[in-house]
Amino acid sequence: MGRPVIAILALGGTIAAAPPEPGRAATMDRDADAIVRSVPALAAIADVRPESFRRIGSADLGFADIVALAKRIDAIAATVAGVVVTQGTDTLEETSFLLDRLVASDVPVVVTGAMRNAGLPGADGPANLLAAVRVAASPLARAAGTLVVMNDEIHLGRFVRKAHATSPATFESRPLGPIGWVAEGHVRMPLAPRTRPRRFALDVGVAVPQVALLKMSLGDSPTLIERIDTGTFAGAVIETYGAGHTSQRVLDALAGLAVRMPTVFASRTGAGEVHTSTCDFPGSELRLLERGLIPAVALDGLKARLLLTLALAGGLEAQHLRDEFAAAVL
Ligand code: GLU
Repeated sequence: MGRPVIAILALGGTIAAAPPEPGRAATMDRDADAIVRSVPALAAIADVRPESFRRIGSADLGFADIVALAKRIDAIAATVAGVVVTQGTDTLEETSFLLDRLVASDVPVVVTGAMRNAGLPGADGPANLLAAVRVAASPLARAAGTLVVMNDEIHLGRFVRKAHATSPATFESRPLGPIGWVAEGHVRMPLAPRTRPRRFALDVGVAVPQVALLKMSLGDSPTLIERIDTGTFAGAVIETYGAGHTSQRVLDALAGLAVRMPTVFASRTGAGEVHTSTCDFPGSELRLLERGLIPAVALDGLKARLLLTLALAGGLEAQHLRDEFAAAVL
């Protein structure tokens, strides 16, 4: 049997970066060919097909880029055994969540990056790319949804988060943990999702609405909430305290916001579910539900914002939003 064909779609980020000369800060000069050339060991495990899709910092990626990327993956899905996306790690938890909801094909999709550029001791890009290609070439990854491979761990794009500014072990999945790992070239995946959440069929060029994301904090006031206007935003996600609580100061403003636009509440802790029936006191989840806010269930604020954006772009009606959030974690 020949080597599996793996497409490597490069978007930029630290995995595309090296210093122009020793001692200088890194620049993002490497296109997909250069990234692949820097890891000769790839040739032994796959017939890799590099493609430079973007070369930008991951904070500069937008919905349009990821919708176009998903379309590109679907277009080549029948001709490859798997797809690896390389990009900056800063928004990788968001792009992998979006790809999971946008790629229609069951082809393995693995997103990876690097925390240390090629000029630093312990540069992790080559090892991450090698492991990502191994996972993308594995039949275990088929139909598992978008995966993230970093630091030899395999995470679901549905749950992965960047949790440290500089550590190579920055990616984690709460509340699950990784679903597998790579060791000595072996792909181990003892866990796999029972179901995949439904995909959104968005066309390239679709008008993607803006969804506001606002974190509550001690001593908060209604001012910012009141300024989320329907001229700019089609929806809002509020990162509330703990299991979905707010101060009484902002309750009326949140009620007004939920009248203006679909408003979702997530936990600012970033892990675990918001409650729906536990606390009946001022500012508790019951007060938010009474005022029409929608629980994010176990999605954190970033992912809740992405799901609400996709749902609104896909034309989902307001009465179905609560079910959509509940289904996101099944
Ligand atoms: N901030 C850049 C980005 O996300 C580099 C960081 C990284 O790749 O880890 O594209």
